[in-house]
Amino acid sequence: MDTEKPFVDIRHAQKSYGSLEVLKDISLKVNRGEIVAIIGPSGSGKSTLLRAINDLDPLTGGEVWLEDVQVNKTLPHRQYEKHINHVRQNIGMVFQHFNLFPHLNVRENITLAPRMLKGLTVDEANTLAEEQLDKVGMLERIDYYPSQLSGGQKQRVAIARALAMKPKVMLFDEATSALDPELVEEVNLVMKKLAEEHMTMIIVTHEMGFAESVCDRVLFMDQGVVVEEGPPSVIFRNPENERTKNFLRKHL
Ligand code: ADP
Ligand code: MG
Repeated sequence: MDTEKPFVDIRHAQKSYGSLEVLKDISLKVNRGEIVAIIGPSGSGKSTLLRAINDLDPLTGGEVWLEDVQVNKTLPHRQYEKHINHVRQNIGMVFQHFNLFPHLNVRENITLAPRMLKGLTVDEANTLAEEQLDKVGMLERIDYYPSQLSGGQKQRVAIARALAMKPKVMLFDEATSALDPELVEEVNLVMKKLAEEHMTMIIVTHEMGFAESVCDRVLFMDQGVVVEEGPPSVIFRNPENERTKNFLRKHL
């Protein structure tokens, strides 16, 4: 029996851009330590849903909860800023295009937020940066600048930077799809390691093999709805819905 309170609870998410409805009543609960993959064609609303979780793309209807806190609540501007900054500290996000600060070296990229937002001392932040870089196998590049790193290395630093905030959940939006094929595996390995440590993760991906090997549950989205969801063994091997079958024929 599932008595655990979900970590992430998306309730009846609805999002429109003008007359275009891109999320149509989507509900998703993710438990602590659960790893959920979201797959689906381009334009189906995957990024919009992920970005709604930390209110980067505010919903036009429905609610997002992170544990006991409603993320997308209406507050006066100042209170909202304070609220959302706090919420976002708990949510690590890694995008397709590495968003490292180009003028900061790796160490500075990682220590900035823990120092500014959590008030860590330089020494504390450095120790944290070294721990996280070690975890992603990038410790020896701590003094490099982003321009001196490969795409895979940048993405590993981006993951370390997110982890340095000790997030409760990690969101990945096609973290490997801008990488040269030979660089994908090093990033996937880092994500697999996080999975083994039971980090709660929501992963938007085009890599079906990776999703199958790492995730507990897979959601197939199309045109703003969750068409089908289930364990990877079912979704990838024995999907019921015609749209899922069609999509997988092209992507497996
Ligand atoms: P996916 O990540 O699955 O490719 P998206 O969430 O990026 O899909 O986009 C879903 C739909 O929303 C698409 O039709 C896209 O064109 C539209 N969309 C996304 N962002 C905006 C925006 N800022 N303004 C208008 N339409 C948008
Ligand atoms: Mg997308």
